[in-house]
Amino acid sequence: MARLALILSKQQEAAPRAERRGASLGVGKRYRWAMEKIADGVYQVSRGVNSFVIDGDDGVTLIDTGMPKRQGAIVEGLSDIGRSAKDIETILITHAHFDHVGGADALQGASGAMVMASHDEASAIQGDRKPQPPLILDRIPFGAAIAGWFPKARPVLVDGMVAEGHDTDLPQDLRAVDSPGHTTGHLSYLLERSGGIMFVGDAAVASNGNIKRAWFNRKTEAIDGSIAHLGEFAFEIAVFGHSGPITSSASSAFARFNQ
Ligand SMILES: [Zn+2]
Repeated sequence: MARLALILSKQQEAAPRAERRGASLGVGKRYRWAMEKIADGVYQVSRGVNSFVIDGDDGVTLIDTGMPKRQGAIVEGLSDIGRSAKDIETILITHAHFDHVGGADALQGASGAMVMASHDEASAIQGDRKPQPPLILDRIPFGAAIAGWFPKARPVLVDGMVAEGHDTDLPQDLRAVDSPGHTTGHLSYLLERSGGIMFVGDAAVASNGNIKRAWFNRKTEAIDGSIAHLGEFAFEIAVFGHSGPITSSASSAFARFNQ
């Protein structure tokens, strides 16, 4: 009987899902202030955390999708460049934290986009395990409990796994760059456009043109190793989940970190 009740409740849940997705895009609210041009066809949407829109001949690619229920900012930004949620072909995720995957379920539902991430992050994005808490919580009393209070992102199916050197499925001259530390499967992405644009995610932040570990990271071999690794690539521009961009000679800022 309990099992039947469970099945029934699942069916009731499943039916209105498509409608809810349409409604939950948040279209109709205005977020014009939120989208900023980084380079030709590359935009940053800032809504508590930064997500990115790459516009190309083969449709729109998103890198991260922001906080849960804030995807309206991305949809409104797309309308400002003559695109809609339906034009999203690919959603690339840096890591499984709620403030980076929050809009993924709704935006994937509206577009049918391919969702891609690293193998390690995919299990958390799909809801098979909890995302790793930010490293800073290791040092705070009741850190694990605090992580439990974070908003939850709705799980979304990952269609393709990528890693550095295993990224030929990525669209628009994008490459995956392994940058573990913030989470074990954290990925950054490099776009070969405008002298190179590195989408750093939460591997670091920028402060006055310099690279910092960020308040939510701490000194570990993996964190510092990933910052050094990012500095081995050549890119003019770097964009971050939780700071403003570096707009010139960005790879040298990574290379001189810790020197
Ligand atoms: Zn994070």
